[in-house]
Amino acid sequence: MTNRNPKLRGILFDMDGTIVDVPYDWTKIRAELKTQGKPVLSYLESLSEPEKTHKWKILEEYEDKATSNASMKKGMKALFSFLKEKSVKTALITNNSEKNISFLMEKFHLSFDVVMTRETGVWKPSGEPFLLAVKKMGVNREECCVVGDSYFDVLAAKAARISRIFIFAPEEQRPEFLEAFIVHSAEELRHQIDKWV
Ligand SMILES: [Mg+2]
Repeated sequence: MTNRNPKLRGILFDMDGTIVDVPYDWTKIRAELKTQGKPVLSYLESLSEPEKTHKWKILEEYEDKATSNASMKKGMKALFSFLKEKSVKTALITNNSEKNISFLMEKFHLSFDVVMTRETGVWKPSGEPFLLAVKKMGVNREECCVVGDSYFDVLAAKAARISRIFIFAPEEQRPEFLEAFIVHSAEELRHQIDKWV
């Protein structure tokens, strides 16, 4: 990434593991749902009844539990104030549900210019939700960056052809992360973003 990139006018944020820390054990959840390596949401949607309803319920129970134990990452509040000050637009793009996202936004007093939950019907790792959010923010794709914590965030950013990608230090190293800028804290992220605002 170089300073030849245009000024940042919009940031596409992920929620879980990015803005808030949530105690998810995805390995355990995937094993229990028997997703066979497929992305969880598309896997669940591909099922027939009654398995579909049953497994959605299992996922939602895990999500509700993790959501109620979420905590905001240190320095995030300051980052959002900084972005407001610099007139950078923010979008939240999450595969989590509207119900859980409303809960988190209210709990941590968060607001975004655009919010897209899984109820929109387009999910990461598709680039579609990012492209829709960019359009809704009224900015160009080149003026945006993605902030996330998982390889789905990287895959979705690449699919949407958004080249500036910031990933909170992943627990597991994946080849996809080589294309992202790894950050370890909200302060470090703010410092990096400051170059382009
Ligand atoms: Mg995440």
